[in-house]
Amino acid sequence: MVEEMWDQNSGHGNWNLNFLRDFNDWELGLVGDFLQILRSHKPSGEEDSILWKKGRRGQFRVKEAYNLLVRSDDIGFPSRSIWVTRVPTKVCFFAWEATWGRVLTLDRLQRRGLQLPNRCFLCGCEEESVNHILIHCTVVRVLWDIVFGLVDVKWVFPETVKEVLVSWRGSFVGKERKKIWDAIPLSIFWTVWKKRNRLAFRGGGGGVLNVQKLKNFFVCNLWSWAKLYVGEEAFSLIGFLEWLASP
Ligand SMILES: [Zn+2]
Repeated sequence: MVEEMWDQNSGHGNWNLNFLRDFNDWELGLVGDFLQILRSHKPSGEEDSILWKKGRRGQFRVKEAYNLLVRSDDIGFPSRSIWVTRVPTKVCFFAWEATWGRVLTLDRLQRRGLQLPNRCFLCGCEEESVNHILIHCTVVRVLWDIVFGLVDVKWVFPETVKEVLVSWRGSFVGKERKKIWDAIPLSIFWTVWKKRNRLAFRGGGGGVLNVQKLKNFFVCNLWSWAKLYVGEEAFSLIGFLEWLASP
């Protein structure tokens, strides 16, 4: 309730906020903006009430809600993190499918009635699902760790691919590096999915995971895309990594 967050006793009154959890690094900008907006508002002392902002006079009406739904293209959908300029379309398309949970991972095949054991091809421990294989798998985390190690950021991972993409904001890396920053999740997804398929379909001898090679593939793949965006900093791989990590 708004009332409880407002401390009437301090001076002209003050916001006294309680947040339910700690913030991620990437959320700090948003929280800052939010607090700034809040500073210019004071509660009026009326009783709290629920208003529907999109409707006339704050009232919810089905017809208006319907029109909004038809018109809006779901602002919660991370289109901008998927259709990233100069990333190959097949890669963007894969991320798009993954966001919708349409990738044919073992859990989905099982749900379609196929009799299969479900074991992640990468870690060999957990069950395979799209969120596991692209975000939570210990093998995939090695790739995410490379990225966060470079920019020295700690990230509390969201649960789903969609949430990862929605919250992937590179505001702290600056405008120049943001172009390549936007491509990072796509490069990780693609690297992992290709590797997964190689392990899944070759089986046997081809089915040995070499994490070092996976890292190399990811970094080189990202570098090859970066060459399209970045100038002389990207001439060498080391130059590229240094540029990516520069504060
Ligand atoms: Zn796994």
